[in-house]
Amino acid sequence: MIVMKFGGSSVANAQRIKHVSSIIQSYAAQKPIVVLSAMGDTTDHLLEAAERAVNGTVDMSRIETLHRSTAEELGIQTDEIEPLLAELKTLLTGISMLRELTKRSRDYLVSFGERMSVRLMAAWLNTQSVPARACDAWDIGFVSDSRFMSAELLDSVWQAIPAALAPYTAGSDNRIPIVTGFIAKDTNGYITTLGRGGSDLTATMIGAAVRADEVQTWKDVDGILTADPRIVPDARTVPEVTYDEAAELAYFGAQVLHPRSMAPCRKTGTPVRVKNSYNMSFAGSVIVEHHTGPCGPVRAITSVQRICVIDIVSTRMLGASGFLAHIFNQFLKWDISVDMVATSEVSVSLTVKTDKDLSGLLEDLSRVAEVRCKENKAIVTVICDVSHSSTLLAKGFAALAEAGVNVQMISQGASKVNISMVCDNSEAAHVVQTLHTAFFA
Ligand code: ASP
Ligand code: MG
Repeated sequence: MIVMKFGGSSVANAQRIKHVSSIIQSYAAQKPIVVLSAMGDTTDHLLEAAERAVNGTVDMSRIETLHRSTAEELGIQTDEIEPLLAELKTLLTGISMLRELTKRSRDYLVSFGERMSVRLMAAWLNTQSVPARACDAWDIGFVSDSRFMSAELLDSVWQAIPAALAPYTAGSDNRIPIVTGFIAKDTNGYITTLGRGGSDLTATMIGAAVRADEVQTWKDVDGILTADPRIVPDARTVPEVTYDEAAELAYFGAQVLHPRSMAPCRKTGTPVRVKNSYNMSFAGSVIVEHHTGPCGPVRAITSVQRICVIDIVSTRMLGASGFLAHIFNQFLKWDISVDMVATSEVSVSLTVKTDKDLSGLLEDLSRVAEVRCKENKAIVTVICDVSHSSTLLAKGFAALAEAGVNVQMISQGASKVNISMVCDNSEAAHVVQTLHTAFFA
């Protein structure tokens, strides 16, 4: 038994749906459970439609057109998606009248993307004589807490999912379940979402709970690469990474898997394989608990662009206790997460993403210290075995010195698998290329 997950771009149009269905069919003997995202950028389009509704306009034409024309192109009935489109219109109308959008309504609203994509795929498979059944995640045991927009699954899912899927896994129902990624319901029955990109978690949760042989996440590149191929054209596939390494990779910018999604499979030791839908026979990359064979010290090099470095300097910190606690409390208060930290006796430097307004935080910090915020920076991360850190640092920095790049802050994660450094955003690609050449050429 395997779990196969396909993201939005893999099911973006009729042609891609057909292609994915042929991949699913070729794995029929392994009894796949399939997890899908919403078609293409539907989640974004739903959010845009919501924004417009808040401003008084109900317009879901893009979403309607995409789903109806895809059904038409596939030659399948739209009777399963029409009720959803109608419900969505009612919801948008309600939002346009109230002129407000709560997190709960937003989750209800974006859920339509996944609910429609699984219905189209199941209908198409059925026309191909491949028995399939569309399943909403809550019908197969997905219950979460009520933290709308980034809900956590409850522990009960570990029993509920295998119980709900038993007919399929035991073979009494021969249909292939096509499950909505990303969504769940809370114990009150309200629809929740697991956070953007959450379909990966749906897939790994199912795979772990039913003790699948493997969870496959299908992309359009050859698995996990040693660097972003747009930056390093000759980046190559990393055949094997550990859960730790994969989590750091995802966290530090590689488009691998949602960082949170590794947790369930890691509990059960279920391998997660990243495969290329355009190169089916290629093994891709597999994520496992421990390396199964010898491998070089560096796995990959990633970058996160447009981050901001906050330098906090205070002589009050000298020998005093509780200063860092106070500093971090301000980040908690403003709900701003820190990615990298470096400290000295009188200063601490931290990096944050720039998707949130930092002004309140900076004002609070300025009350106790001298604060400087440096924008347009990037973090470049070397995912590696840090037991070799001295050699790696020497090699990496020699290459960077030769390339004339100055790194402004460095930290070695306690997770023992990453060395991160900050540079100017404009130099990030150059740093990644230089390090890639140093470690992989
Ligand atoms: N459709 C959702 C999103 O775009 C979930 C996913 O793709 O994993 O974030
Ligand atoms: Mg998506």
